[in-house]
Amino acid sequence: MIIVVSGPGGVGKGTIVDAAVKRDARLWLSRSWTTREQRPGEADDAYVFVSAEEFEARIEDGGFLEWTNFLGNYYGTPVPDEGSGLAAGRDIVLEIEVDGAQQVKRLRPDVMLIFVLPPSREEQERRLRGRGDVDHKVLARLKKAEEEEPIGRDLANHVVVNDDLEDTITEMLAIIDAAR
Ligand code: 5GP
Repeated sequence: MIIVVSGPGGVGKGTIVDAAVKRDARLWLSRSWTTREQRPGEADDAYVFVSAEEFEARIEDGGFLEWTNFLGNYYGTPVPDEGSGLAAGRDIVLEIEVDGAQQVKRLRPDVMLIFVLPPSREEQERRLRGRGDVDHKVLARLKKAEEEEPIGRDLANHVVVNDDLEDTITEMLAIIDAAR
């Protein structure tokens, strides 16, 4: 099973997905490539951090299941290989933005797409600012979120509002279990 978790920035997708993968040993989190700079305090393995040249070379090689340019940086999901959880019979989780989610849905209509929404714009802004991004980046992400929301809702098999983190994780694990 491929599970796509998508939603606007600052909604807590990363935190939810990390917790879900820790609790459910049958889940395997795909690690994306990005050309974005590593944030202060961000884990080294949050992404494979690469240059634009390295990213473009991998595009040329057909090495991405999907990729996009999100607010000036490349992000992409490597095609799962023998080293991935798929080989071990685990379910793959992709934590990606809406354009990538659309690509994966087109490629594999059977994927399960969970779209996560913030409880409110104010809370989303607070979470985005809490990550320490500079002001213009926060505003760009908020604007982007408004564009992403209707597309994501349309595409989703399940829409989850991340109000209480613990409830959201429980809900997501229950959705996945039911699908199995
Ligand atoms: P951030 O810079 O906040 O880590 O990520 C920006 C956006 O890119 C988030 O919505 C995140 O889910 C998304 N993203 C992360 N990895 C990928 C990927 O491999 N493909 C796509 N399409 N989006 C990604």
